[in-house]
Amino acid sequence: MPELPEVESLRRRIAPAIVGGRIEAVELRRPDLRSPFPRRFARRLTGQTVVTLTRRGKYLLASLSSAETLLMHLGMSGSFRVVRDLPRVRAPRGGVTFNSHDHVVFHMSSGRAIVFNDPRRFGTMALIPAGTLRQHPALSGLGPEPLSPDFDAAALARACRRKKTTLKAALLDQRVVAGLGNIYASEALHVAGLSPRRRSSVLATPAGAPREAAYRLVAAIKQVLARAIARQSVDAYRGRPFLVYDREHQPCLRKNCVGMIRRRVQGGRSTFYCPECQR
Ligand SMILES: [Zn+2]
Repeated sequence: MPELPEVESLRRRIAPAIVGGRIEAVELRRPDLRSPFPRRFARRLTGQTVVTLTRRGKYLLASLSSAETLLMHLGMSGSFRVVRDLPRVRAPRGGVTFNSHDHVVFHMSSGRAIVFNDPRRFGTMALIPAGTLRQHPALSGLGPEPLSPDFDAAALARACRRKKTTLKAALLDQRVVAGLGNIYASEALHVAGLSPRRRSSVLATPAGAPREAAYRLVAAIKQVLARAIARQSVDAYRGRPFLVYDREHQPCLRKNCVGMIRRRVQGGRSTFYCPECQR
């Protein structure tokens, strides 16, 4: 499931093909994704220039010359790819260029096409009218961007101060911090040396000031996400990229730690951690 680093590296990859370009045609190859496409979706997009392509949490936001914003979420399995040298006309259905999970095609004025593929169809696309972006339900409750200066130990401690949940659940809560999912929450807790099963209130004093663990966890989150983005921008990258995620029964990679990675289900999701060095 795509988390912040996957969405950010996707944004960087497709931005050159989209930003500054005009959308000549939008091809909807089915009537819906998780929910139906917005009203007059293709018509509202056609002829618009994409002004910027930004990211908020796990959402991609394309701002349009019409002042509307196209909001996109990859769901469980969504992805975009850039197809070059496509004729500037609607591609024939079932043509060799597309497969059955290619649901939306944005034909750009450059001749390139941006294809949205989503086998499990949990992705979403919404068109947000001008001036209502901040109030949109997908965005209005989002916590700080983890790689921004707004996200620091004080902010994390404030958000977790009275929480009764575990640290793992707190990091998955998009109101606490935006963009983390199962993988990078596990990774960050490992780097910070904190058990995913601890109460999140351990990050703050009763008055809400950050404790030492909050500083460690914020630094770990930033480090894990920044490294993942950097790694994904290397095209040829293959191999096992994680410290704990998906490594059950394997030795801990921390220097001098003799622990074995354990998997536990928390809130229906697998958490991976080292019981020796994460306390
Ligand atoms: Zn360990």
